[in-house]
Amino acid sequence: MTLHFETLAIHDGQTPDPLTGAVTVPVYQTSTFGRESLDSRPEYFYSRIGNPTRTALESTLALLENGRHGLAFASGVAAITAALQVLRPGDHIVAGADIYGGTYRIFEQIMRQWGVETSYAADASTESYEACLRPETKMIWIESPSNPLLQVTDIRAVSGIARPKGIVTAVDNTFPSPYFQRPLELGADIVVHSTTKYLGGHSDVIGGAVVTNEDRFHHAIRNYQAAAGAIPGPWDCWLVLRGLKTLKVRMREHEATALHLARALQEHPKVSKVFHPGLPDHPGHELAKRQMHGFGGMLTIALEGGLPAVGKLTSATKLFVLADSLGGVESLIASPARMTLGALSPEERQRRGCTDDLVRLSVGLENAADLEEDLMNALATI
Ligand SMILES: *Cc1c(COP(=O)(O)O)cnc(C)c1O
Repeated sequence: MTLHFETLAIHDGQTPDPLTGAVTVPVYQTSTFGRESLDSRPEYFYSRIGNPTRTALESTLALLENGRHGLAFASGVAAITAALQVLRPGDHIVAGADIYGGTYRIFEQIMRQWGVETSYAADASTESYEACLRPETKMIWIESPSNPLLQVTDIRAVSGIARPKGIVTAVDNTFPSPYFQRPLELGADIVVHSTTKYLGGHSDVIGGAVVTNEDRFHHAIRNYQAAAGAIPGPWDCWLVLRGLKTLKVRMREHEATALHLARALQEHPKVSKVFHPGLPDHPGHELAKRQMHGFGGMLTIALEGGLPAVGKLTSATKLFVLADSLGGVESLIASPARMTLGALSPEERQRRGCTDDLVRLSVGLENAADLEEDLMNALATI
Protein backbone atom coordinates (compact mmCIF):
# COMPACT_ATOMS: atom_id res chain seq x y z
CA MET A 1 0.00 0.00 0.00
CA THR A 2 1.43 3.38 -0.96
CA LEU A 3 0.47 5.82 1.73
CA HIS A 4 -0.28 9.46 1.11
CA PHE A 5 1.49 12.45 2.64
CA GLU A 6 -0.91 13.13 5.51
CA THR A 7 -1.07 9.42 6.44
CA LEU A 8 2.72 9.20 6.62
CA ALA A 9 2.82 12.38 8.73
CA ILE A 10 0.65 10.67 11.34
CA HIS A 11 1.77 7.04 11.22
CA ASP A 12 5.31 6.72 9.96
CA GLY A 13 7.84 5.79 12.65
CA GLN A 14 5.11 6.40 15.18
CA THR A 15 3.62 2.97 15.90
CA PRO A 16 2.17 2.53 19.41
CA ASP A 17 4.86 2.31 22.09
CA PRO A 18 5.79 -1.39 22.50
CA LEU A 19 5.95 -1.13 26.29
CA THR A 20 2.68 0.66 27.05
CA GLY A 21 0.70 0.98 23.81
CA ALA A 22 0.83 4.80 24.00
CA VAL A 23 -0.32 6.04 20.59
CA THR A 24 2.00 9.03 20.55
CA VAL A 25 5.76 8.60 20.63
CA PRO A 26 6.91 9.09 24.24
CA VAL A 27 9.31 11.89 25.13
CA TYR A 28 12.41 9.88 26.05
CA GLN A 29 13.75 12.50 28.44
CA THR A 30 16.97 10.72 29.26
CA SER A 31 20.62 11.48 28.60
CA THR A 32 21.82 7.90 28.65
CA PHE A 33 20.60 4.28 28.42
CA GLY A 34 21.72 1.29 30.50
CA ARG A 35 23.75 -1.45 28.80
CA GLU A 36 23.41 -5.21 29.38
CA SER A 37 27.14 -5.89 29.37
CA LEU A 38 30.44 -4.57 28.06
CA ASP A 39 29.86 -6.50 24.84
CA SER A 40 26.35 -5.21 24.16
CA ARG A 41 25.89 -2.82 21.24
CA PRO A 42 22.53 -1.24 21.99
CA GLU A 43 20.80 0.99 19.42
CA TYR A 44 20.61 3.76 22.03
CA PHE A 45 23.30 4.48 24.60
CA TYR A 46 23.72 8.28 24.78
CA SER A 47 21.18 10.87 23.59
CA ARG A 48 23.63 13.08 21.67
CA ILE A 49 24.28 10.10 19.40
CA GLY A 50 20.67 8.89 19.29
CA ASN A 51 17.35 9.16 21.10
CA PRO A 52 14.13 7.30 20.21
CA THR A 53 11.99 10.46 20.08
CA ARG A 54 14.51 12.01 17.70
CA THR A 55 14.60 8.84 15.60
CA ALA A 56 10.81 9.01 15.16
CA LEU A 57 11.09 12.62 14.00
CA GLU A 58 14.01 11.90 11.65
CA SER A 59 12.19 9.01 10.08
CA THR A 60 9.01 11.05 9.49
CA LEU A 61 10.97 14.01 8.08
CA ALA A 62 12.71 11.72 5.57
CA LEU A 63 9.44 10.19 4.42
CA LEU A 64 7.66 13.51 3.99
CA GLU A 65 10.51 14.74 1.76
CA ASN A 66 10.45 11.38 -0.05
CA GLY A 67 14.05 10.85 1.03
CA ARG A 68 15.91 7.92 2.59
CA HIS A 69 17.71 9.66 5.44
CA GLY A 70 16.55 12.38 7.83
CA LEU A 71 18.53 14.14 10.55
CA ALA A 72 17.19 16.58 13.14
CA PHE A 73 19.12 19.55 14.51
CA ALA A 74 18.84 22.13 17.28
CA SER A 75 18.01 24.92 14.79
CA GLY A 76 17.68 25.61 11.10
CA VAL A 77 21.11 27.24 11.01
CA ALA A 78 22.63 24.19 12.74
CA ALA A 79 21.10 22.03 9.99
CA ILE A 80 22.51 24.35 7.30
CA THR A 81 25.98 24.31 8.91
CA ALA A 82 25.84 20.51 9.07
CA ALA A 83 24.83 20.20 5.40
CA LEU A 84 27.87 22.34 4.47
CA GLN A 85 30.17 19.69 5.98
CA VAL A 86 30.13 17.86 2.64
CA LEU A 87 32.45 20.70 1.44
CA ARG A 88 36.22 21.09 1.93
CA PRO A 89 38.52 24.15 2.06
CA GLY A 90 39.00 25.52 -1.45
CA ASP A 91 35.48 24.57 -2.55
CA HIS A 92 33.13 27.23 -3.90
CA ILE A 93 29.37 27.69 -3.41
CA VAL A 94 26.93 29.37 -5.80
CA ALA A 95 23.93 30.66 -3.84
CA GLY A 96 20.60 32.16 -4.79
CA ALA A 97 20.24 35.93 -4.93
CA ASP A 98 17.72 36.26 -2.17
CA ILE A 99 18.63 33.76 0.58
CA TYR A 100 17.81 33.79 4.29
CA GLY A 101 19.94 36.35 6.14
CA GLY A 102 21.28 33.75 8.58
CA THR A 103 22.44 31.54 5.72
CA TYR A 104 24.26 34.51 4.16
CA ARG A 105 25.95 35.07 7.53
CA ILE A 106 27.11 31.42 7.67
CA PHE A 107 28.54 31.71 4.16
CA GLU A 108 30.26 35.05 4.75
CA GLN A 109 31.31 34.88 8.41
CA ILE A 110 31.93 31.19 8.99
CA MET A 111 32.58 29.33 5.73
CA ARG A 112 34.73 32.06 4.18
CA GLN A 113 37.28 31.93 7.00
CA TRP A 114 37.57 28.17 6.45
CA GLY A 115 38.40 28.74 2.79
CA VAL A 116 34.97 28.21 1.23
CA GLU A 117 33.87 31.17 -0.91
CA THR A 118 30.32 31.93 -2.03
CA SER A 119 29.09 33.77 -5.14
CA TYR A 120 25.50 34.97 -5.45
CA ALA A 121 23.34 34.61 -8.55
CA ALA A 122 22.04 37.90 -9.91
CA ASP A 123 18.44 36.66 -9.94
CA ALA A 124 16.41 33.43 -9.76
CA SER A 125 17.01 32.39 -13.40
CA THR A 126 18.94 29.19 -14.18
CA GLU A 127 21.37 31.23 -16.35
CA SER A 128 22.32 33.47 -13.45
CA TYR A 129 23.34 30.44 -11.35
CA GLU A 130 25.25 29.03 -14.32
CA ALA A 131 27.10 32.34 -14.82
CA CYS A 132 28.60 32.04 -11.32
CA LEU A 133 30.03 28.53 -11.74
CA ARG A 134 33.81 28.06 -11.32
CA PRO A 135 35.98 24.97 -11.74
CA GLU A 136 36.04 24.66 -7.94
CA THR A 137 32.26 25.05 -7.46
CA LYS A 138 31.06 22.09 -5.38
CA MET A 139 27.61 23.21 -4.23
CA ILE A 140 24.62 25.20 -5.46
CA TRP A 141 22.41 26.56 -2.69
CA ILE A 142 18.79 27.31 -3.60
CA GLU A 143 15.93 28.84 -1.67
CA SER A 144 12.68 28.70 -3.62
CA PRO A 145 10.39 30.55 -3.15
CA SER A 146 12.97 32.96 -1.75
CA ASN A 147 12.95 35.29 1.22
CA PRO A 148 11.50 37.95 1.12
CA LEU A 149 10.79 38.38 -2.63
CA LEU A 150 9.35 34.88 -3.19
CA GLN A 151 11.33 34.41 -6.40
CA VAL A 152 11.08 30.93 -7.88
CA THR A 153 14.14 28.95 -9.06
CA ASP A 154 13.84 25.99 -11.45
CA ILE A 155 15.22 23.26 -9.16
CA ARG A 156 15.11 20.59 -11.87
CA ALA A 157 17.00 22.75 -14.37
CA VAL A 158 19.66 23.93 -11.90
CA SER A 159 20.28 20.47 -10.45
CA GLY A 160 20.40 19.12 -14.02
CA ILE A 161 23.33 21.45 -14.75
CA ALA A 162 25.02 20.69 -11.42
CA ARG A 163 24.89 16.88 -11.41
CA PRO A 164 27.10 16.11 -14.46
CA LYS A 165 29.72 18.50 -13.03
CA GLY A 166 29.73 16.70 -9.66
CA ILE A 167 28.17 19.73 -7.97
CA VAL A 168 25.82 19.10 -5.04
CA THR A 169 22.44 20.86 -5.19
CA ALA A 170 21.09 21.82 -1.76
CA VAL A 171 17.65 23.35 -1.28
CA ASP A 172 16.36 25.21 1.77
CA ASN A 173 12.73 24.05 1.64
CA THR A 174 11.52 25.98 4.69
CA PHE A 175 9.11 28.33 2.89
CA PRO A 176 7.03 25.79 0.92
CA SER A 177 7.41 22.84 3.37
CA PRO A 178 7.42 19.30 1.93
CA TYR A 179 3.65 19.47 1.51
CA PHE A 180 4.02 22.01 -1.30
CA GLN A 181 7.48 21.12 -2.67
CA ARG A 182 9.77 18.08 -2.56
CA PRO A 183 13.15 19.06 -4.01
CA LEU A 184 14.63 15.53 -3.94
CA GLU A 185 11.96 14.51 -6.48
CA LEU A 186 13.15 17.41 -8.67
CA GLY A 187 16.80 16.30 -8.64
CA ALA A 188 18.23 18.04 -5.56
CA ASP A 189 20.73 16.11 -3.43
CA ILE A 190 20.18 17.67 0.00
CA VAL A 191 17.14 19.38 1.55
CA VAL A 192 17.37 21.51 4.68
CA HIS A 193 14.64 22.96 6.89
CA SER A 194 14.12 25.33 9.71
CA THR A 195 11.54 23.17 11.52
CA THR A 196 10.96 26.28 13.65
CA LYS A 197 8.64 27.47 10.88
CA TYR A 198 5.84 25.49 9.18
CA LEU A 199 6.94 22.00 10.29
CA GLY A 200 6.69 22.87 13.99
CA GLY A 201 3.97 25.30 13.02
CA HIS A 202 3.05 26.74 16.42
CA SER A 203 5.89 29.22 17.16
CA ASP A 204 6.93 27.19 20.18
CA VAL A 205 10.16 25.46 19.15
CA ILE A 206 13.48 26.11 17.38
CA GLY A 207 14.75 23.25 15.21
CA GLY A 208 16.23 22.18 11.91
CA ALA A 209 16.48 19.18 9.59
CA VAL A 210 18.55 17.71 6.76
CA VAL A 211 17.16 15.07 4.37
CA THR A 212 19.05 13.26 1.61
CA ASN A 213 18.93 10.09 -0.48
CA GLU A 214 22.71 9.80 -0.74
CA ASP A 215 24.37 7.49 1.80
CA ARG A 216 27.72 9.32 1.62
CA PHE A 217 26.15 12.72 2.40
CA HIS A 218 24.06 11.19 5.16
CA HIS A 219 27.08 9.57 6.78
CA ALA A 220 29.14 12.78 6.65
CA ILE A 221 26.31 14.90 8.07
CA ARG A 222 25.29 12.29 10.66
CA ASN A 223 28.89 12.03 11.79
CA TYR A 224 29.00 15.81 12.17
CA GLN A 225 25.68 15.76 14.08
CA ALA A 226 27.11 13.26 16.57
CA ALA A 227 30.54 14.89 16.80
CA ALA A 228 29.59 18.59 16.84
CA GLY A 229 26.42 17.91 18.82
CA ALA A 230 23.85 20.52 17.71
CA ILE A 231 21.03 18.07 18.43
CA PRO A 232 17.46 18.91 19.47
CA GLY A 233 16.25 17.67 22.84
CA PRO A 234 13.48 15.07 23.05
CA TRP A 235 10.80 17.62 23.93
CA ASP A 236 11.66 19.75 20.91
CA CYS A 237 11.57 16.66 18.68
CA TRP A 238 8.17 15.78 20.11
CA LEU A 239 6.80 19.27 19.42
CA VAL A 240 7.92 19.12 15.78
CA LEU A 241 6.45 15.61 15.45
CA ARG A 242 3.15 16.93 16.74
CA GLY A 243 3.30 19.82 14.28
CA LEU A 244 3.95 17.50 11.34
CA LYS A 245 0.71 15.60 11.94
CA THR A 246 -1.35 18.64 10.91
CA LEU A 247 1.02 20.01 8.25
CA LYS A 248 -1.28 19.29 5.33
CA VAL A 249 -4.38 20.97 6.75
CA ARG A 250 -2.36 23.92 8.01
CA MET A 251 -0.54 24.49 4.71
CA ARG A 252 -3.79 24.41 2.73
CA GLU A 253 -5.35 27.00 5.01
CA HIS A 254 -2.22 29.21 5.14
CA GLU A 255 -2.19 29.22 1.34
CA ALA A 256 -5.89 29.90 0.82
CA THR A 257 -5.82 32.86 3.20
CA ALA A 258 -2.54 34.22 1.76
CA LEU A 259 -4.05 34.17 -1.75
CA HIS A 260 -7.21 35.86 -0.51
CA LEU A 261 -5.15 38.63 1.13
CA ALA A 262 -2.81 38.92 -1.89
CA ARG A 263 -5.77 39.63 -4.16
CA ALA A 264 -7.32 42.11 -1.73
CA LEU A 265 -4.01 43.96 -1.24
CA GLN A 266 -3.45 44.23 -5.01
CA GLU A 267 -6.47 46.54 -5.13
CA HIS A 268 -5.25 48.86 -2.37
CA PRO A 269 -3.91 52.30 -3.45
CA LYS A 270 -1.19 52.36 -0.76
CA VAL A 271 0.19 48.99 -1.87
CA SER A 272 2.51 49.43 -4.85
CA LYS A 273 3.31 45.73 -5.37
CA VAL A 274 2.25 42.32 -4.10
CA PHE A 275 4.65 39.36 -4.26
CA HIS A 276 3.03 35.92 -4.11
CA PRO A 277 3.82 33.04 -6.51
CA GLY A 278 0.12 32.19 -6.68
CA LEU A 279 -0.69 35.47 -8.46
CA PRO A 280 -0.76 35.00 -12.25
CA ASP A 281 1.38 38.15 -12.80
CA HIS A 282 4.17 36.87 -10.51
CA PRO A 283 7.23 36.16 -12.70
CA GLY A 284 7.63 32.68 -11.14
CA HIS A 285 3.95 31.71 -11.34
CA GLU A 286 4.13 29.21 -14.23
CA LEU A 287 7.30 27.60 -12.88
CA ALA A 288 5.78 27.37 -9.40
CA LYS A 289 2.72 25.66 -10.89
CA ARG A 290 5.02 23.05 -12.45
CA GLN A 291 7.40 22.31 -9.59
CA MET A 292 5.22 22.95 -6.53
CA HIS A 293 1.96 21.45 -5.27
CA GLY A 294 0.80 24.82 -3.92
CA PHE A 295 2.15 28.34 -3.53
CA GLY A 296 2.53 28.71 0.22
CA GLY A 297 1.44 31.06 2.96
CA MET A 298 4.09 33.80 2.71
CA LEU A 299 3.24 37.11 1.17
CA THR A 300 5.34 40.26 0.66
CA ILE A 301 4.06 43.70 -0.26
CA ALA A 302 5.71 47.00 -1.18
CA LEU A 303 4.14 50.16 0.25
CA GLU A 304 3.81 53.64 -1.19
CA GLY A 305 5.65 55.92 1.23
CA GLY A 306 8.70 53.76 2.05
CA LEU A 307 9.97 53.09 5.56
CA PRO A 308 7.71 55.63 7.35
CA ALA A 309 4.67 53.88 5.87
CA VAL A 310 6.13 50.50 6.87
CA GLY A 311 6.59 51.80 10.42
CA LYS A 312 2.97 52.91 10.57
CA LEU A 313 1.50 49.73 9.13
CA THR A 314 3.56 47.38 11.29
CA SER A 315 2.64 49.18 14.50
CA ALA A 316 -1.06 49.54 13.59
CA THR A 317 -2.03 45.90 12.96
CA LYS A 318 -3.77 44.22 15.88
CA LEU A 319 -3.87 40.58 14.72
CA PHE A 320 -0.63 40.55 12.71
CA VAL A 321 2.07 40.59 15.40
CA LEU A 322 5.26 42.51 14.60
CA ALA A 323 7.80 39.69 14.92
CA ASP A 324 10.57 37.77 13.16
CA SER A 325 9.98 34.14 12.21
CA LEU A 326 7.11 32.73 10.16
CA GLY A 327 5.03 29.64 9.59
CA GLY A 328 3.08 29.60 12.85
CA VAL A 329 -0.65 29.53 13.50
CA GLU A 330 -0.62 33.26 14.32
CA SER A 331 -0.11 35.87 11.61
CA LEU A 332 3.14 37.84 11.77
CA ILE A 333 4.25 41.04 10.07
CA ALA A 334 7.87 42.09 9.54
CA SER A 335 10.07 44.64 7.82
CA PRO A 336 12.78 42.67 5.95
CA ALA A 337 15.03 45.77 5.73
CA ARG A 338 14.84 46.53 9.45
CA MET A 339 14.37 43.05 10.90
CA THR A 340 15.12 39.78 9.11
CA LEU A 341 17.82 41.29 6.83
CA GLY A 342 18.63 44.21 9.10
CA ALA A 343 22.15 42.90 9.82
CA LEU A 344 23.18 43.16 6.15
CA SER A 345 24.91 46.26 4.78
CA PRO A 346 22.68 48.71 2.85
CA GLU A 347 24.64 47.79 -0.34
CA GLU A 348 23.99 44.09 0.19
CA ARG A 349 20.28 44.72 0.78
CA GLN A 350 20.13 46.84 -2.37
CA ARG A 351 21.89 44.11 -4.40
CA ARG A 352 19.16 41.71 -3.28
CA GLY A 353 16.31 44.05 -4.11
CA CYS A 354 15.38 44.19 -0.44
CA THR A 355 14.06 47.75 -0.43
CA ASP A 356 12.87 49.70 2.62
CA ASP A 357 9.25 49.71 1.42
CA LEU A 358 8.82 45.93 1.78
CA VAL A 359 6.58 44.29 4.36
CA ARG A 360 6.61 40.53 4.83
CA LEU A 361 3.47 38.78 6.02
CA SER A 362 3.37 35.27 7.44
CA VAL A 363 -0.30 34.49 7.06
CA GLY A 364 -1.61 32.45 9.97
CA LEU A 365 -4.70 30.35 10.53
CA GLU A 366 -7.04 33.09 11.76
CA ASN A 367 -10.24 33.86 9.84
CA ALA A 368 -9.39 35.39 6.44
CA ALA A 369 -11.94 38.22 6.73
CA ASP A 370 -10.62 39.16 10.18
CA LEU A 371 -7.06 39.33 8.82
CA GLU A 372 -8.18 41.37 5.82
CA GLU A 373 -9.99 43.84 8.06
CA ASP A 374 -6.93 44.13 10.31
CA LEU A 375 -4.69 44.96 7.33
CA MET A 376 -7.19 47.38 5.80
CA ASN A 377 -7.63 49.23 9.11
CA ALA A 378 -3.84 49.43 9.53
CA LEU A 379 -3.33 50.63 5.92
CA ALA A 380 -5.82 53.42 6.59
CA THR A 381 -3.46 54.87 9.23
CA ILE A 382 -0.74 55.57 6.62
C1 LIG B 1 14.30 30.72 9.85
C2 LIG B 1 14.99 30.23 8.65
C3 LIG B 1 16.24 29.59 8.74
C4 LIG B 1 16.99 29.45 10.05
O1 LIG B 1 16.32 28.64 10.95
P1 LIG B 1 16.44 28.77 12.56
O2 LIG B 1 15.53 27.70 13.03
O3 LIG B 1 16.04 30.15 12.92
O4 LIG B 1 17.88 28.52 12.90
C5 LIG B 1 16.81 29.12 7.57
N1 LIG B 1 16.21 29.27 6.38
C6 LIG B 1 15.02 29.88 6.26
C7 LIG B 1 14.40 30.01 4.90
C8 LIG B 1 14.37 30.38 7.38
O5 LIG B 1 13.20 31.01 7.25
